[in-house]
Amino acid sequence: MEDSTEKLLNDVKEYCKKDFVAMMYNLLIEPLNIYAYLDNQIILTIPSSEQKNMLQTEHYETLENAFSILTNKKCELTIIEEKEIPIYASIISNYKQENITKEEYSKTHLNKDYTFNNFVVGESNRLAFATAQAIAKQPSSIYNPLFIYGGPGLGKTHLMHAIGNKIIEVNPKLNVLYVTSEQFLNELVNSIKDRGEKSKIFRNKYRNIDIFLMDDVQFLSGKEAAQLELYNTFNELHQNKKQVVFSADKPPKDIPILEERLRSRFTWGVLVDIGQPDYETRLAILKKKTEQKNIIVDEHILSVIAEKINTNIRDLEGVLNKVVISASLIEAPITIEIVEKAINEISLQRENIKTPDLIINIVANYFNIKPEEIYSSKKSNKIVFPRQIAMYLCRKELSLPYQKISAIFKKKDHTTIMHAEKKIEDEIEMDINTKLIVESVKNILNNQTY
Ligand code: ADP
Ligand code: MG
Repeated sequence: MEDSTEKLLNDVKEYCKKDFVAMMYNLLIEPLNIYAYLDNQIILTIPSSEQKNMLQTEHYETLENAFSILTNKKCELTIIEEKEIPIYASIISNYKQENITKEEYSKTHLNKDYTFNNFVVGESNRLAFATAQAIAKQPSSIYNPLFIYGGPGLGKTHLMHAIGNKIIEVNPKLNVLYVTSEQFLNELVNSIKDRGEKSKIFRNKYRNIDIFLMDDVQFLSGKEAAQLELYNTFNELHQNKKQVVFSADKPPKDIPILEERLRSRFTWGVLVDIGQPDYETRLAILKKKTEQKNIIVDEHILSVIAEKINTNIRDLEGVLNKVVISASLIEAPITIEIVEKAINEISLQRENIKTPDLIINIVANYFNIKPEEIYSSKKSNKIVFPRQIAMYLCRKELSLPYQKISAIFKKKDHTTIMHAEKKIEDEIEMDINTKLIVESVKNILNNQTY
């Protein structure tokens, strides 16, 4: 430590004596060290996590005040445990370094358009936003892992990228990786095909990450090998104090066919949910999006869209884009008629996109079998159950007549379809796993629309 830093630390300790009773002083202030002093950012170390938490939650302001007074400028403190020093070492050594190159950035799989700055905060997402920000500010400290859950189109993916983008902005050399669980699974499958080199590359890649962001883990339901690999990856990262963030469309307890030990890892840190935005938030989001696109839309029009679209933010954006495009095509101002037409088109488009093929593909993917097996006449349980779910969804989601579905599944007799529909209906009532599976597949199906 430089002399001046040492002097500052001694001065601060002296100054704090008046604010702390002796016992607290000995416990929390005396053992402090300054690990780094960068502009107004000061990183302090303390031996244990208990001391760190106490100082952080109960005395942060007093301590920060002492530093600010004695340095004559507003200081920001980061308190870390001594064993966290290796993580911060890379941050410090890269402090004030150039931003990362485009090529390095593309390896993170981050999307630069998703940031904290353009995320609109309302009641429904306030906690998730605050937690995400806290993690970006101090990775690998209190919330590890973070698990964000909520329905489709509500901003989970946006927040995950925002965490990654913020961390990279501050510490360009940290190794950040964003993947969907589907990409993880595909890479794993590819690496297993060739047992030698590729598996090694896969493991090296995933075990050498500082910040691991994995989106949509519900997709790993029923995928045993991927769950095992993720479990091992997580343990390794967590042990090495690397930050992990997961997202899913539901809380861990509701994800079907998930290994208990992985489920328990998901809940080790903190769980936060994102709910549906209220009217004010929806309106604020529309305003923000028009600002970003640099277009002017009458407030009244925005309020009509915000009123009518109450499902999710992806739908809100979809309608707004459609309205703006339609109006610019006819070179006319945006009217209520244009808005209504756009809303109708979007719901129609959604219906049209869902096809039996799509349902069968999603179900097959979900159960890790081939679509052809669903179409086949194989009778093994592994195939029959997914096939019945696919039949059931063709009825419920597409409202197709029995005859038509039996033709698709090459059944002579449409009673097979009626039987499947009834069986799955009953099972949904009786068996929580079936209920959750059907919900998950429906979610994936309804998420594909844009
Ligand atoms: P999810 O991952 O939960 O399905 P996304 O993060 O993909 O949802 O969000 C869908 C779209 O809505 C994205 O374009 C995202 O930028 C936007 N969005 C979601 N929440 C917000 C928000 N609070 N403020 C601004 N845009 C948002
Ligand atoms: Mg998403």
